[in-house]
Amino acid sequence: MQNQPKSGDPEWTIIKLLKWTTSYFKSHDIDSPRSTAEILLAHVLKLKRIDLYLRYDQPLSINELSQFKVLIKRRIKREPVAYIVGVKEFWSMDFTVTKDVLIPRPETECLVEAALSLLPEDSSSNINQIQKRILELGTGSGAVILAIASMRPNHIFFASDRSIKAVKLARQNAKSHSLDTVVNFFCADWLTPLNSERQRFDMIISNPPYVPTRVIGLLQPEIDKYEPIRALDGDKDGLCCLRYIINDAHLNLSRKGSLLLEIGHDQKNKIFKIIHKCGNYQDIVFTKDYSGYDRVVRMTKKDV
Ligand code: GLN
Repeated sequence: MQNQPKSGDPEWTIIKLLKWTTSYFKSHDIDSPRSTAEILLAHVLKLKRIDLYLRYDQPLSINELSQFKVLIKRRIKREPVAYIVGVKEFWSMDFTVTKDVLIPRPETECLVEAALSLLPEDSSSNINQIQKRILELGTGSGAVILAIASMRPNHIFFASDRSIKAVKLARQNAKSHSLDTVVNFFCADWLTPLNSERQRFDMIISNPPYVPTRVIGLLQPEIDKYEPIRALDGDKDGLCCLRYIINDAHLNLSRKGSLLLEIGHDQKNKIFKIIHKCGNYQDIVFTKDYSGYDRVVRMTKKDV
């Protein structure tokens, strides 16, 4: 770190530090250098980003400056901002994230939208509303199921993950959004514990790992070096978990129940073939994400 801020230097005001850090991040090819500098500095100072500008000529204490330097170094090593500050916004809700869970992606909001489109809105006039049972597989931080539950809290929600650390974190996120009595989290590997119990759900939803193994090393270092590989690796062709869920989920869906999945940007045709071959679904609909990629597929259990 050349000409780096020295602890205790009275010249290091908020605004000077933001300028210096922005150009330092730029020279290291860090994405969105200015906003990254703001987020990290606001985190150290326990301020909102906007408040940095209300106090722009406030100097930092020795302690604050050394804390900030540690965060700059972590980001330069490509650690994602969300892991550094421990929070990621998704569906306008803040979720605690750790290295045990994938950082929720903006495109995954399309999965939430698809689920909501199948769940009638709660309204006091709708006294006969049928409560649905909704299950998420591989919940991670809980962002998807908690976003849905926040919008439709009158249904019954379940969510599982094979990582106990993820389940604990998802429960913590549920609590911080006062949804801990609405969503039931449990530790499980996909549908394994539910098959024998013949548990039925009106909707099963998942954003499973779908990146082909050989592609993982080619992703940005932020993903490749820091995010949990178990949440990304979809085996040789990337389709291992998607295939497994499609072939199994209909056994746990109630009559006309829906299965909703997030898929990789180039997986539409292969997924269509898997669903078709399985033969237990109808009304297969793909929806695009904000970048125009087919990102979500939904299907209904065949009514036989
Ligand atoms: N969309 C994620 C990525 O960009 C992958 C998430 C997944 O495998 N479910 O890496």
